[in-house]
Amino acid sequence: MQDSYRHKGLRQNLVNVLKQKGITDPNVLQAILNIPRHFFLDKAFEEWAYRDVAFPIDADQTISQPYTVARQTELLRIHKNEKVLEIGTGSGYQACVLSYLGAKVYTIERQEKLFTKTYSRLRQIGFSNIRTLFGDGYKGLPRFAPFDKIIVTAGATEMPKTLMSQLRIGGLMVIPVGTSESKKMLRIKRLSEEKYSKETFGDFKFVPFLKGTNQV
Ligand code: SAH
Repeated sequence: MQDSYRHKGLRQNLVNVLKQKGITDPNVLQAILNIPRHFFLDKAFEEWAYRDVAFPIDADQTISQPYTVARQTELLRIHKNEKVLEIGTGSGYQACVLSYLGAKVYTIERQEKLFTKTYSRLRQIGFSNIRTLFGDGYKGLPRFAPFDKIIVTAGATEMPKTLMSQLRIGGLMVIPVGTSESKKMLRIKRLSEEKYSKETFGDFKFVPFLKGTNQV
């Protein structure tokens, strides 16, 4: 796979678009400027990589819109060495953005086909430190909990209590939740063993957060 000046120029334009849409975190913008998003789409669709749109990948899933990736990442306030759980690996792009920011990333995907493809892609492009797992993200990852941060990249209809319980006290979870097609972006903070606070940030579209796994 090749990354050229042309690609870098397209990424700079994308970064400008994201700034205009209100993304301000310089580290997040730097990650988007430096990670070749066209590596995450099949070659035939390369030209779509630097438009601010979601795009179909395998197993009827999508790579999230760059604005959504940027916004969710910004809301997570990532610091170096934090342990981060991502639900919904998909193409692996969001996981790479988190890893670029210095997070120790664990990511789970329920579609086996996507998991297998993305697992090897991440190794191929030099992100082999991302722990990529196949399984049902509804259950979280109790073996590695608690997490400093949790990001859900599929649309939930209700708040998954299991995931909340895997946040460390003081930790943040960013998750789109809602009963209609469009979801509200929520940021949950764990205040104590029992107490959580909630903030709401705008409407977003996502593929559904589903229970169980889909094996090939
Ligand atoms: N973060 C991805 C976005 C992928 S779309 C990216 O950067 O490309 C959301 C993904 O969540 C889909 O691949 C879907 O299969 C996955 N998903 C939905 N429910 C899930 C669950 N319970 N556990 C794990 N992954 C899930």
